[in-house]
Amino acid sequence: MHLGNSPRITNLWSKVVDGENGEWLTRVVVESTRPYEYTLKEINGGIVLECAGADVNMPEGKLEVNDGLLRDINIEQLGHDTVRVQMALDHPAVFKHAVYNDFPSRLVITLERSFITGLLSGKRIVVDPGHGGKDFGGRGPVSLLEKNVVLPIARNLEKLLKRTGAEVTLTRSGDEDLSGGERAGIAVKERADAFISIHTNASADSSVEGAASLYAPLDNGSEELARYIQEEIIKKLKVMDRGVAGQPALAGMDKGIPAVEVEIVTITNIVEEVFLRGLTIQKRAAEGIVNGLIKYFASDRPSTRGDKE
Ligand SMILES: [Zn+2]
Repeated sequence: MHLGNSPRITNLWSKVVDGENGEWLTRVVVESTRPYEYTLKEINGGIVLECAGADVNMPEGKLEVNDGLLRDINIEQLGHDTVRVQMALDHPAVFKHAVYNDFPSRLVITLERSFITGLLSGKRIVVDPGHGGKDFGGRGPVSLLEKNVVLPIARNLEKLLKRTGAEVTLTRSGDEDLSGGERAGIAVKERADAFISIHTNASADSSVEGAASLYAPLDNGSEELARYIQEEIIKKLKVMDRGVAGQPALAGMDKGIPAVEVEIVTITNIVEEVFLRGLTIQKRAAEGIVNGLIKYFASDRPSTRGDKE
């Protein structure tokens, strides 16, 4: 029947892109040796592509994406003549698709990320790179300073959040030393919807490793925000999950402002110090924090529902 000549699916990838008219999109590309018959269906929480008469010619299984909208893509051979590609979504999305019969042949599915921009647009986020000036924060075994490495992470976070439509203020963009009160004061002045402080963990014990998210010990959504951020940065960084905990230093934060201090890995651990110097972690940490904020603003929090039932 196939005579070894079935269309073969050879590659599968996704990317966040800007559309021609300024839209923000997730693009999924399924490459194959030739076109095939297919169905594309919306299911609860995702999209399913079934490719008839095709063979998988790439590793089967789950590809983690976690781009804030698309969680993962699973590809599997069903029987001898169908390939199923299942896209799991974190949030609803309108999508369209097109087929390009080049070589390789490409089926392109484009998902609108407007759910995210709808949630974050106009939200005021204060991003606080920890320490600065004479206050170095933690120091790595090869002398990476916390105050320096948190800045590029904060700038990545600023850039990503601006793409969602959020309004972002950095508490410092240079090497200034600010007090905790000054940082909290900026959040109050900006009437922030969230305050995100970027730190690294530090320990006298060089074997300590991993990431944690610390919340303001106020009953205002801080803990919930910390849980979402923690879950999402662990997905992105694949480091030890040190969990969430209260941070007494954030107790002075205004009650109306959810506040979280994110400890992006442990600078005093030699492996994680090396990791921290890389541009990849600096970007992925920011992506994880944004994904946590999206989940937080998407959640049904009583505080955002007023006194409606
Ligand atoms: Zn710190």
